[in-house]
Amino acid sequence: MKILLNNKALFESLRPFNDLGFVPTMGGIHKGHLALINKSNKLCKKTIVSIFVNPKQFNSKKDLRSYPRNIKKDLKILKKCKKVDFVYLPKFKDIYVDKKKSNITLLKRDKILCAKFRKGHFEGVLDVMNKLTKIINPQKIFMGEKDFQQLYLVKKQLERIYKTKVIPCKTVRDSRNIALSSRNFLLNKSNLVIAAKIFEKLVSIKKDIKNNINISSFLNLQKKELKNNYKIKIDYLELRNINNLKISSTTKNSRLFIAYYLNNVRLIDNL
Ligand code: AMP
Repeated sequence: MKILLNNKALFESLRPFNDLGFVPTMGGIHKGHLALINKSNKLCKKTIVSIFVNPKQFNSKKDLRSYPRNIKKDLKILKKCKKVDFVYLPKFKDIYVDKKKSNITLLKRDKILCAKFRKGHFEGVLDVMNKLTKIINPQKIFMGEKDFQQLYLVKKQLERIYKTKVIPCKTVRDSRNIALSSRNFLLNKSNLVIAAKIFEKLVSIKKDIKNNINISSFLNLQKKELKNNYKIKIDYLELRNINNLKISSTTKNSRLFIAYYLNNVRLIDNL
């Protein structure tokens, strides 16, 4: 596993390879990331993982400051899994070479779910993914369905501009069915108990949707119940179509999307 600390090292090392799988991360490596790495390892000759906490996709300074970082531990895990050929650890200046401001904007129809509550977040994500793809030039990029809206927007943008294919990977959960996330490192034991209960409740809500005629008022009621029972703040609880992310009036091709705060940590999930 070769560690690439700047673009020069990256260009020199990657030049001979034309079947490259790329797994972009912000570190805090967990089994969700490892699932993407495994898939890349199966489908591509070489796998590169990047670790870069992109400041431009954080809409809150506090969130950026508290984002879990442990590069030593991350490298140890990545080395141990034996499926990673390169780890790219760029500095801010490697990514933002030109000081030009990005002109990426979201379409009105995409300003939903997290885009509605985290202003500028996806503009930052799309900008960094665009830059990383240009620098690394991978054949395939592996991204998780846990961050469904991110996957949807990045796939749409990158496949329009580059030959790169964005490959979706299923959400990896722990034994209690909590979606793995680097942000879970910020939760305590009792928070995790609540997160597991919320997941169970979401499963039953999704099941009950089938029998309800007015989905939006049903979900509003469920949202209130979740808020009261678990004392959480909920940004959204919505059923949306997986192909266009429009509000859904049927469970067919649809997922239930949630974003909520537990212990001031913002968690997202979809099922
Ligand atoms: P992050 O480090 O949180 O930016 O995530 C890097 C990549 O890993 C993204 O494509 C995420 O969607 C994906 N990812 C994060 N958590 C999970 C999970 N529990 N299961 C599958 N993929 C995940």
